[in-house]
Amino acid sequence: MADSQSLLQRWRQLKDELESTHTRLIAVSKYAPDAAVACLAGAGQRDFAESRPQSLRDRAQQFPDLFWHMIGPVQKNKARYVGRHVGMWHSVEDAETAAAVARHVRGRRLPVLLQVNVGDLPHQHGVLPENLPVLYEQVSCIPELEITGLMCMAPRGSDARRCFSALRCLRDGLADGSLGGLSMGMSGDFRIAVEEGATMVRLGSVLFGLGNIE
Ligand SMILES: *Cc1c(COP(=O)(O)O)cnc(C)c1O
Repeated sequence: MADSQSLLQRWRQLKDELESTHTRLIAVSKYAPDAAVACLAGAGQRDFAESRPQSLRDRAQQFPDLFWHMIGPVQKNKARYVGRHVGMWHSVEDAETAAAVARHVRGRRLPVLLQVNVGDLPHQHGVLPENLPVLYEQVSCIPELEITGLMCMAPRGSDARRCFSALRCLRDGLADGSLGGLSMGMSGDFRIAVEEGATMVRLGSVLFGLGNIE
């Protein structure tokens, strides 16, 4: 790849910055070519994410030594891809799909995060804050899944800091404050997320340098 040097440079900078705050850098590879994934993997990046179950399965089969995060919506007919290939599932939003995924988990407990619609906007993924305690109870009863925290996306044009601090408060109020994980922050708002306590940020365009393709 002609621009693998600049990719590595961006990666090192982001990694150093995030390591100083003990924040896990998840490389969102959904728009990136295989060569870019291979390049970062060769340099030592372990955590990668895909937002579509089939892409995740394909990449996890191609790069089995990497740790794959599922960050997008999952339909029940794709549950097996998630149950079999995912290292951490960030986008749990209903108990039925969670149970469907759990049926494909073998010989391990799959770490999951509950996705919350903190902006309280229609057409956004995630459980509404007022329904979070019920979802937490339902998913807690599924032995193959282990709830490790919460995830959100700050809707475009919203007050990202308010969303992130709301997610942190929700996490602190669940399970007697025993959940550690907070997956929040993308290319445009990850520094705010880190200030608000993110333990993982999900970076696509700022890392791979692809601009905003969405
Ligand atoms: C695509 C995506 C990201 C990364 O987005 P960038 O703005 O390119 O960093 C993060 N989280 C989710 C859920 C995504 O779908």
